[in-house]
Amino acid sequence: MNASNKISLCQPAQGKGCCVCCGLFNCADISLAGLEHFLSDATAEIRYSPVAGNIVRNFESLQKQYTFRETTTYVCPYMGFIDSNTPGCLMHPVVNNGIDRRDCSLFGKEICNDYFCPAYTLLDDRLKKILIRYTDNWYTYSIGIIDPLSFIWIVQLIEDKLGEPIVPEKSTTNSIVVTLVNRSLMMVADFFNTVPVPVFYYSEPEYHLHMRELSLNQSSSLNEGVRDTIKNAISAVFNDYS
Ligand code: SF4
Ligand code: SF4
Repeated sequence: MNASNKISLCQPAQGKGCCVCCGLFNCADISLAGLEHFLSDATAEIRYSPVAGNIVRNFESLQKQYTFRETTTYVCPYMGFIDSNTPGCLMHPVVNNGIDRRDCSLFGKEICNDYFCPAYTLLDDRLKKILIRYTDNWYTYSIGIIDPLSFIWIVQLIEDKLGEPIVPEKSTTNSIVVTLVNRSLMMVADFFNTVPVPVFYYSEPEYHLHMRELSLNQSSSLNEGVRDTIKNAISAVFNDYS
């Protein structure tokens, strides 16, 4: 939602924009194709139409068009693609000729501007930089934001195999690491898409409470399969290169 704080996770680079706390991943279908469809529809309806106050799209109309994971959790109708490959807020002044129209959302511009999700505190600066630099599209990037503990677990697995820490400031990016980070996060996304429960929580206590069975940092009967698949995939790639 916002772009302040030391390292911004909200809009850190072209192709890495985030709409997670705007409710994007409350859609029942959180496949890449499903969310691209949602964002493209919004972009077409809002960005290229005259905007005046509370307009064509609203939460109630979205509820008729889409199925949501948690029916009482707000899904903002005003997120879309602010660039061809970058999700973001279509009411933000930066993309709206300097005019801030975020008050037409349920949250309002103060909350939109001042909220920080759990990833801001659960990821240290190095991990934030790894997430920004080593994901290669907005979708895998957003999965890391939704579930920072799974992302940390994936990074640790890769680093164990590498035998050294990933240094995000290095001038060259290790392409094996890019492949593994993105492949692993896609597997997490596929896993989340098979469980019909909320996958994003606004506060850290809620995140820890409700993601216990899903986050890959600890084993559960639900996530055992995907944990093994990711471990095997990472090992296989390193075996191929050794
Ligand atoms: S979920 Fe976090 S990173 Fe994404 S827009 Fe909201 S505050 Fe920013
Ligand atoms: S108005 Fe607020 S909640 Fe809606 S898309 Fe913009 S930043 Fe997100």
